[in-house]
Amino acid sequence: MLEVVTISLENEMDLVLAHKRSMKVAEKLGLTTATQTTFATAVSEIARTVIEHTDNGILTIGVEQNKQRFALKATVTFDSSIKFTNADEGFYYAQKLVPEFNLSEAGGLNLIEMKIGLPRSLRIDRDKVKDLKEYFLNEAPLNAYEEIKKRNISLNKIAEEQEEELRQSKIIDEKKNEFISIASHEIKTPITIIKAYAQMVKALKYECSDPVKSILEKIDGQSTKLLSLVQQLLDISKMENGHLQYSLEKIELSPFIIEMVSVTKFLIPNHEVNVTLDDNVSVMIDRLRMEQVFSNLLGNAAKYSAKNTNIHVTCAIEDHQFVKVSVMDKGIGMSAVSIESIFNKFYRSKDVMRTHAGLGMGLYIASKIVTDHGGKIWVDSVEGEGSTFHFTLPYVA
Ligand code: ADP
Repeated sequence: MLEVVTISLENEMDLVLAHKRSMKVAEKLGLTTATQTTFATAVSEIARTVIEHTDNGILTIGVEQNKQRFALKATVTFDSSIKFTNADEGFYYAQKLVPEFNLSEAGGLNLIEMKIGLPRSLRIDRDKVKDLKEYFLNEAPLNAYEEIKKRNISLNKIAEEQEEELRQSKIIDEKKNEFISIASHEIKTPITIIKAYAQMVKALKYECSDPVKSILEKIDGQSTKLLSLVQQLLDISKMENGHLQYSLEKIELSPFIIEMVSVTKFLIPNHEVNVTLDDNVSVMIDRLRMEQVFSNLLGNAAKYSAKNTNIHVTCAIEDHQFVKVSVMDKGIGMSAVSIESIFNKFYRSKDVMRTHAGLGMGLYIASKIVTDHGGKIWVDSVEGEGSTFHFTLPYVA
């Protein structure tokens, strides 16, 4: 069938549309007023009967070509679980009105077809039907209801397109995460081996000259950096997949902070780290994950400040629920714009792009770890003066 108009049959208001549109199509094709009325009445009767049973019917009006003969045709589809009998008045009456009437069932849908042959004198051809379709596409809505209906259809279409876009971008995102995860695993193994060999050779005290030892030292140091980057990539892909897991244990915070500082000191040999611990409380934390937070904050404090400047770590009870840890440096500080964004994934401030190496993952991961522990993380910073990163953790009473 060459379709001209389609109307979803949802409620009584659609009856008006079904009647007026079928009249108009018949009129445009050049049929007599009597035939227009007959066709429109048959269509309206079926539409009314369908609407009485369901709000999912679809009416399509068009022209069917059979060799050189054309017929005006209307089809109505609706759920096959709905059964019409001649006791349904509209169904019974419509059959009497049109010369060809047929009810069939396929693919879970009932299909009613109604046809009236078009006289050859009307000289219908496919181009005329195309023009007719165009006419109805551009025709102004019959009433406010149809206008709203049309708008709803276009809004639904936009919503469907957006949903599809979202679905596609989710698929791409999943693939990207999968790639990052596989690639990171693959890269991690050889780096670990390189690092192990470098350490083994370094351990051969007498066979190694001092210059060789210093080179091995560098290989070892750079492998450690690479490993930490790869680990961050792995963490990010775990976070995106919701697979970051924590194994919590109750520990005393002050000794833990002292341990973290002494472990990290080796990685930031050019800075002095002072520690002021006002209160000692117990917290429920994942040691390894929290170690990542400390190593990121202390590492950044050293990275973004001049050699031989001080870093100050403090810990004090914030209120009856939280304890606050702060890491203060006297470094380059950051602008208000950066303060807004530094906890976002892959964010790096413009000022450090060319001067300091990094991928902008550390703070994103640290903030996720802190919030997953029930705490908050934020920064106070003044450009050119330094930054203080604070994070809170709930303590065990
Ligand atoms: P990276 O250091 O690899 O860039 P991070 O996520 O750890 O990634 O930090 C994100 C950005 O936040 C950095 O690029 C830098 O601009 C800023 N930043 C972080 N820590 C400091 C700090 N202590 N002082 C100044 N800027 C900092």
